[in-house]
Amino acid sequence: MKLSRYTELFEGKDGYSYLFNCMTLKWIQIEKELADIFKLHETNIDDLREIHPDFYDALVSEEYLVKDIDDDINKCVEKIIKEYNSFDNLTITINPTLDCNLRCWYCYEKRHAQSVMSEETIKNTITFISNTLKSRNVKKLRLSFFGGEPMLRYKEVVKPIIAHIYDSCKLTSTKLSLTITTNGILLTDKTLIDLKKFSPDVNIQIAFDGSREFHNKVKHLGNHISCYDKSVQNAKKAIEMGFNVVVRCNYNKETIASFKEVIADFKDFHHYNNLRFLFQRIWQEKNDEELGTLWKKLINEIETNYSINSNFHKDSGHSLKVCYADFRNNIVINYDGNAYRCTARDFNTTNSIGKLNEDGCLIEKERDESKTIKGTSYGNICRQCRLLPICPSCSQARLECRFEKCPIGINPIKAVNNMKNIFQILTGIEVYHQLLTSK
Ligand code: SF4
Ligand code: SF4
Repeated sequence: MKLSRYTELFEGKDGYSYLFNCMTLKWIQIEKELADIFKLHETNIDDLREIHPDFYDALVSEEYLVKDIDDDINKCVEKIIKEYNSFDNLTITINPTLDCNLRCWYCYEKRHAQSVMSEETIKNTITFISNTLKSRNVKKLRLSFFGGEPMLRYKEVVKPIIAHIYDSCKLTSTKLSLTITTNGILLTDKTLIDLKKFSPDVNIQIAFDGSREFHNKVKHLGNHISCYDKSVQNAKKAIEMGFNVVVRCNYNKETIASFKEVIADFKDFHHYNNLRFLFQRIWQEKNDEELGTLWKKLINEIETNYSINSNFHKDSGHSLKVCYADFRNNIVINYDGNAYRCTARDFNTTNSIGKLNEDGCLIEKERDESKTIKGTSYGNICRQCRLLPICPSCSQARLECRFEKCPIGINPIKAVNNMKNIFQILTGIEVYHQLLTSK
């Protein structure tokens, strides 16, 4: 037997060691002594059978050890393809508008002033989603609103779509989860009460650009209202009402230190499990050593001064996320009815994958199979990579590297140190919580 390419041994904060397989997502907790034995025989794993047969048998039956590495890799690729084509979980992101009430300097969206989804496109969108729920037997629908600022068009677009889809989900017994990505200014009491009616699982992500001073320099309305205070106040209201609130901290070198003030401003809410801080380097900022040092300093200060009860997400700027853009069950619908795979590229005809028609059907453009998962998007380099099952890259990025090197600069064989970053993003896995909450 051989060690699966995707099995990783690491030490938990609780004094135990953990074996984790990032393809099966199985994990076991082991005593340190057993971990030492494992490490000693890692390269010649069959010796372990003599020394600790029970442990060895458990590792075989739970697939931490495999017969053949190539089979293991093939199984992994098959699993990814299956997941990419599965409709068990459907994610629909809607841009009700590409207009915004603010003008952040770093915003990558091209502003479409006064743009709004028409009644006809709203109808087509509702029909498309309802039909997909029925025909694909979807178990969970993640309905997200993005933009621009989606709350600018809450009444005309967001609410009617949610209300209809809520009914469709009831008919098809589909779980509904809602997400709103907003600057938080228009998150009124009335809206929150409304949203609460539609799902117990509502996620609100509110972007912050640093302390009050920095935030208000980036986000201002041209009156004397402090955007910072408005957003903090609305975020707190949402937390109290039980929404899952993500305080998204968009940082660069200039602002990173000031986020300790943002954390302090939420001090009375740190004990809420539904509050989470998410750090994200703004895309124009270089991820260099200086930023790394500033980052470590901030985390140190936060950890010394606070005990945050939420799953505090320490994205150190590596931006490792499993890319959603390759999933067939992930569709972004723009206000004009054009469909896309992701929100990180311009909403233009080149990037569009098709358009919704009046029957609520997505008329897809012809796909270039060489760019899909069925084609050559996993070259040899990725097939050798230990991060393949949880690769944060997308097929487009791999294609741009001609499948000859890793688009995110990972050494596929030695991808060990990156596992820690990976754990931090796998928030759905029990081991993540266990590791981060054990003191
Ligand atoms: S609030 Fe968001 S959408 Fe609006 S300008 Fe700023 S970054 Fe862009
Ligand atoms: S080599 Fe890079 S792109 Fe390929 S699977 Fe590994 S992390 Fe992903």
